[in-house]
Amino acid sequence: MAAKDNRMIPESFSRRFPRAIHRQAGIPSSVGSGGSWFMPSPIPSRSLFDVGSTGCGWFVNSMGEGVEDYTFREGDVFFVEVGGELLYSKDGVGKNIGDSYLKGWKESLMDKLQMELWFTEKQTPDHGITSKIVRTLHHEETKYQTVDVIETRQFGNMLLLDGMVMTTDKDEFVYHEMIAHVAMNTHPEPKDVLVIGGGDGGAIREVLKYPTVETATLVEIDERVIEVAKTYFPAIAGALDDPRVRVRIEDGIRHVEEVKNAYDVILVDSTEPIGPAVGLFQRDFYERIFHALRRDGIMVAQSESPWFNRDLIARVYHDIADLFPIARLYTASVPTYPSGLWSFTLGSKVYDPLEVDEIKLHRPETKYYTPEMHKALFALPKYVAELTK
Ligand code: SAM
Repeated sequence: MAAKDNRMIPESFSRRFPRAIHRQAGIPSSVGSGGSWFMPSPIPSRSLFDVGSTGCGWFVNSMGEGVEDYTFREGDVFFVEVGGELLYSKDGVGKNIGDSYLKGWKESLMDKLQMELWFTEKQTPDHGITSKIVRTLHHEETKYQTVDVIETRQFGNMLLLDGMVMTTDKDEFVYHEMIAHVAMNTHPEPKDVLVIGGGDGGAIREVLKYPTVETATLVEIDERVIEVAKTYFPAIAGALDDPRVRVRIEDGIRHVEEVKNAYDVILVDSTEPIGPAVGLFQRDFYERIFHALRRDGIMVAQSESPWFNRDLIARVYHDIADLFPIARLYTASVPTYPSGLWSFTLGSKVYDPLEVDEIKLHRPETKYYTPEMHKALFALPKYVAELTK
């Protein structure tokens, strides 16, 4: 195998495809001259070049030599890096490269080059998850955060905010059902519901499964998250078009400061306690929620991982237990979330989820939550229960 020679290669490309570069020289001749075509990314469009057209950028032939203004010849293979995704073609045939054709070629060449793209989220400095990427679908920097959408083999489309998994096609139902149904089914007649954060629309989708609901208000600070979710996660965000839904692009902390006695249920579906979400884990925020709720209101906040965020859970639980007559902690297994085990903290003014009559509970269409597990959720494993002591 030729010695590594990445003088000609954009650093981002060689970092992503270290083996590709090595192999370039080693690509068997059967796939053409083994040339590679590099262009600055992102490329405005995915249209490639026809035989005979000249390209701008770098062409590295099998000798690793850079050649400007290359004319494509039959048998040439060229690579194009689009937003970290490797696209290529064979024989310089650009126009009629359909996704399936490209996909077929990509897979065969990826197999040849054993190239794999993996997304890794470090959940702690010493631990993380990694997931095989099919392609990158979206990337942008918003006023508040980086918003990425990747298509993964295992979990389908994955929404990442600042590089952290927010939701995926395959396991989102667990989180969204568990943040919504415990409170919604404990309250006898939830009419006005508030979701703070939750820009992917999943919590709202579950809330709307209750016929008593008259208004479902989403207070999301970053409008771009909602738009991206509507584009790449229609099964999650689709419910945001329901006539009962009101979307407010606003800081949730500010919103609960301004309303009193307005909601029956409030769900805090926030990101990790970083950036604009830091205040969503603070006692004074929960106090404002207490006053934004009606006399018999219920709140639930996502409260992070019992493995990696024990101090935070203990503090959040005790803050809510100080403010509300009833406080409960429960968990659910969300495979793509840190440690795979997630927690939710409930505060209630009147109704206790342990006192409900299961027979009378509403039976929404779900894949994880059931009325039978409603009370069982609070029989916590010892090392989780001790966080409420
Ligand atoms: N289920 C995910 C989790 O547990 O990590 C959270 C998903 S949801 C997409 C989180 C949303 O909270 C993000 O869209 C983010 O923009 C929003 N957010 C963060 N801070 C906020 C604030 N202060 N007010 C309103 N929305 C906020």
